[in-house]
Amino acid sequence: MKTLIASLGQILFPNLCVCCYEYLSQQEESICDLCLFTLPIFELGYQKDNPLARKFWGRLNVEIAFAHLVYKSTTNVKQLLNELKYNGNITLGIEMGKWLGDALLKSKQFTKIDYIIPIPLHPTRQKFRGYNQSELLGQGVSQVMNIPMLTDIVARERYNKTQTKKRRYERYINSQELFRVRIPEQIEGKHILLLDDVITTGSTMESCGEVLLDVNNLTLSLASLAVAT
Ligand SMILES: [Zn+2]
Repeated sequence: MKTLIASLGQILFPNLCVCCYEYLSQQEESICDLCLFTLPIFELGYQKDNPLARKFWGRLNVEIAFAHLVYKSTTNVKQLLNELKYNGNITLGIEMGKWLGDALLKSKQFTKIDYIIPIPLHPTRQKFRGYNQSELLGQGVSQVMNIPMLTDIVARERYNKTQTKKRRYERYINSQELFRVRIPEQIEGKHILLLDDVITTGSTMESCGEVLLDVNNLTLSLASLAVAT
């Protein structure tokens, strides 16, 4: 009976693939198998010295840098990221986090991570959007890798104009916002995996990574769903 209702629902309200807009089968959730299997994998991520790691050379002391997919504005990856960022597709966000988590396990480089920290959004933006896309990915990664995620350690705040000096545990993102580590004691001596949805220039990761590296004896690794190479 359940299958019959599901089939009827499928006829009345067919689900379409978020990438190619073809009808999905009952087994497929948001993306069809053809689109899923043809996503461009960032194969170079499986090497320690890869183009993503090189983006941060001389900028940030990164232990390991990894991305699952290659971002190009013409591919399905852009479509997926739009779905994650602007369309509120929470299920797909967590699912994509699981893909990333599986890839991180497969790479065998991430055996010593203590905590996952997603790049925070500014609270106003998060309120408007209703969620933080990096946190959704983090939920998936955390489930697959069995590593806890911390979402209250780093804050993204409005920059206070009266403040002229760069202080410890604070880094400007731009002229209006900054990252601040709220509870440094909790992550002292830990290996942190900092997570974002996509890395293009790497400047957001750089500011957030810098502020984390202010913390005593902290080791920093980076991962993202996609990277623009
Ligand atoms: Zn498709």
